[in-house]
Amino acid sequence: MAQIIDGKGIAGSIQKEIAEDVNFLSNNCGKVPGLAVVIVGERKDSQTYVRMKRKACAEVGIKSIDIDLPGDSSEETVLQTVLDLNTNPQVHGILVQLPLPLHINEEKILASISIEKDVDGFHPLNIGKLAMKGREPLFVPCTPKGCIELLRRSGISISGKKAVVVGRSNIVGLPVALLLVKLDATVSIVHTRTPDPKSIICEADIIIAAAGQANMIKGNWIKPGAAVIDVGTNVVDDPSRKLGYRLVGDVAFEEAKEVAGWISPVPGGVGPMTIAMLLRNTVDSARRASEQT
Ligand code: NDP
Repeated sequence: MAQIIDGKGIAGSIQKEIAEDVNFLSNNCGKVPGLAVVIVGERKDSQTYVRMKRKACAEVGIKSIDIDLPGDSSEETVLQTVLDLNTNPQVHGILVQLPLPLHINEEKILASISIEKDVDGFHPLNIGKLAMKGREPLFVPCTPKGCIELLRRSGISISGKKAVVVGRSNIVGLPVALLLVKLDATVSIVHTRTPDPKSIICEADIIIAAAGQANMIKGNWIKPGAAVIDVGTNVVDDPSRKLGYRLVGDVAFEEAKEVAGWISPVPGGVGPMTIAMLLRNTVDSARRASEQT
């Protein structure tokens, strides 16, 4: 029977550590970490994520600089907003909530964020450095960083292990695979063109599931004792629930927990870690800024 990795609990301890760091920076260096959260438009899901991020900032004492732009804002306006934030000394991190409205070039906006404030870690330079041997990015993307932190805080060693990442997106699959390589795992990446994913997944000591496919990974795809981190967040119908749906991961949890050594649940696994890592990156950025002044 697997040990359940309590992402909510681990994220809670990390937030306490962050609150202490914020206190220290404010009291000893006169630097209150600031995170600018930019949202363009009224998408309900994006508004929920932004609200959660702003609330988490308030909980640890990070100053949240809230910028809400209407959905019909021009690309020029969004770009200028980011450029102004780049030079604002009270801002140590800039987060532009994705997706942006279709008339705005997302790549252009993300590339305009100063790499010193790229707390989401999506700037091509930060990703490039993550991919290079002997180089360290200023920021590592939050969800991938959260996956590694869950392994680390659960006492699961990575070096020399066989790891498989299911998914290769820019925000989760690819950066988590790069991180695992940096930490000396032997890494396979499974995607939609991979024939027979089961044959690869069942050899892994560490599985990171980030495909966005409900219950895709079955119990008998998992090597006994493996560590399973489930990033997938999928909505499935559930008439027994008041809302009529529930969230499930990419891993068939009930079967998998009988075989795995460790497993993170959905919800309550990777999700809370993503926000904790965003706060961590912001505070690290403020500390770096205070060391430079
Ligand atoms: P994307 O849709 O961008 O990428 C999904 C990846 O999975 C693609 O690389 C795709 O392959 C691969 N994939 C899809 N179906 C299969 C399949 N049947 N077999 C093998 N590979 C497959 O998703 P994201 O990376 O943005 O997110 C992945 C999941 O993680 C989602 O459920 C999302 O909601 C969740 N998520 C959770 C977060 C959290 O904080 N908890 C944060 C971010 C995401 P290909 O490249 O060939 O198309």
